Amino acid sequence: MCYAIPGKIIEIKDNYAVVDYFGEKKNVLLGVKNVSLGDYIYAQGGIVVSKISKDNATRTLRIWKKQFFELKKIDKKISQPATNGNLLGLMQKVNLGKNLASPELQRLLEMRENKEVQLLLETANNLRQKELGNACCVHGIIEFSNHCRNNCLYCGIRRGSKINRYRMSVGEIIETAKYAVKKLGFKALVLQSGEDDWYDEKKLVKIVKEISELGVLIFLSIGERSKKIYKKLYLAGAQAALLRFETSNKKIFAKVRPGTNLEKRVELIRYLKKSGFIVATGFIVGLPEEKNEDIIKNILLTKDLGADMYSFGPLIPSPLTPLAGQKLLDKNFLLKIIAVTRLADKNAKILVTTALQTLGGDALKMGLIAGANSLMINLTPYKYKKNYQLYPDRDRNKDDVKASIKNAINLLYSLGRAPTDLGI
Ligand code: SAM
Ligand code: SF4
Repeated sequence: MCYAIPGKIIEIKDNYAVVDYFGEKKNVLLGVKNVSLGDYIYAQGGIVVSKISKDNATRTLRIWKKQFFELKKIDKKISQPATNGNLLGLMQKVNLGKNLASPELQRLLEMRENKEVQLLLETANNLRQKELGNACCVHGIIEFSNHCRNNCLYCGIRRGSKINRYRMSVGEIIETAKYAVKKLGFKALVLQSGEDDWYDEKKLVKIVKEISELGVLIFLSIGERSKKIYKKLYLAGAQAALLRFETSNKKIFAKVRPGTNLEKRVELIRYLKKSGFIVATGFIVGLPEEKNEDIIKNILLTKDLGADMYSFGPLIPSPLTPLAGQKLLDKNFLLKIIAVTRLADKNAKILVTTALQTLGGDALKMGLIAGANSLMINLTPYKYKKNYQLYPDRDRNKDDVKASIKNAINLLYSLGRAPTDLGI
C-alpha cells in the first residue's frame, strides 16, 4: 500500500522545484540533495523527502494512473455547491484574491439556517477543490511519551493526572518509525509527546537523525523546548514542527496553561517558521469563556503565523482534568469553523483531527468535505496508545494499524481524494 504518489521534477528554480503529478503542477522545496531535472520524487508537506528510481516510479504511476483521474472526477462532483446570493458575494471576494474581514468571517460562522450552513460547507469544499485539487496528506503519528512537566487544564496527561506513565525507548521509537516507513509506506511522521526533558538533546538528535535517513518528513510535536534544541533537531533532519498556540486570547491562555505564556509560545512558533521548519499550528476550540470572536482571531493568527498546515480541533473534556465539566461542542459547529478557515485562507492545508472524530462517527468525512485536506493515522503501539489519554476514549480501538490505514484510504477514495503532496 502507498500513501503518496510519486511526482516528476519538471523545473528547478533556486531552492524549489516544480513537480508534475499526472499533469498537475505543485511547487515544492528541495529537501534532499542530489535531485535534478527529470528525477522522480516523493514530496510531503511541500518538501521533497526522497528520490525514487525511474523504474520504481513508472511502476507505481502505472498503478495509480487510472485511479487518479477517477478520483478527480469523484472529488469534482462532490464539491459543486448550490447557489446563494449573499454567500456567493463573499465567495467572489475570495476569488478576486481579497481577504474577508473579521466581521464577515464571524457572520459566516454564526449562520444557523440549515440551507445556508450546507451552502457554506459546499462552498468551502468547492474552493478547496479549485485551489488545491484532490490532493490529501496522510501523516502517521507516534506518541512516544505521556510524561509532561506542564499542567494544562484541558489535557488528560497533564502533570497532575494520576495515570500510567510511559516512555518509549530511543530504539523503540526508531523501530516504530522504520516499520511505518519501510513496511507501511508512510512519507510523513509526527513524533509527539508531553514536554518531557528525559528526551534530552542527545536522545532527540539520535531519534531524528536515524528516522530522517529513512526518507520521511518528520514533524516534531514536543511542545516548548529551547530554540537551541529545535535548531539542532532541524540540522539533524527534522524539517517540520507541530506546535499549536492553543488560543490567541491572552486571558484564556493564562488560565488554561498555568506557568506558560502566550507571547513566548507565539514567538517560538515564529522562530520555527523563520528557521525553515514547515509549521503546523492552530488552536483548541471550546475553552472556557471563549467567544466566536476569539475563534475568528485564532483562525487569523494561524494565517498570520504563515501556517503551512492548520491544526485545530474541539476540546474533548477529560474527567481527569479541571475542565471535566466543560460542554462538548456540536460537530456542526466544528465543520463551520473548517469551512470559515477555508474561506479565510483559500490555500490552507487543513488537518482533520482525532478530536473531531470523537464528536461523531462520520466527522472525519464531514470535515474533509467541509474544506479540510489532511489526516493523521495513529501508529503508536497499542500498549502505549491506551495510556496517551488526552481525553477519554481517544483512539481506543485495538484495530491494528493496517486496519486503520485501510479505513482511512477507503474514506479518501470514496471522496475522490488522492495522496499526492499538497505543495507550497
Ligand atoms: N505537549 C505538546 C504540546 O502541548 O504542544 C504536544 C502534545 S499535546 C498532547 C498535543 C495537543 O493536544 C495540544 O496542542 C492540545 O491542543 C491537544 N489537546 C490536549 N488535550 C486535549 C483535549 N482534552 N481535547 C482536545 N485536544 C487536546
Ligand atoms: Fe503537556 Fe502538551 Fe498536555 Fe499541555 S497539552 S499538559 S504541554 S502534553
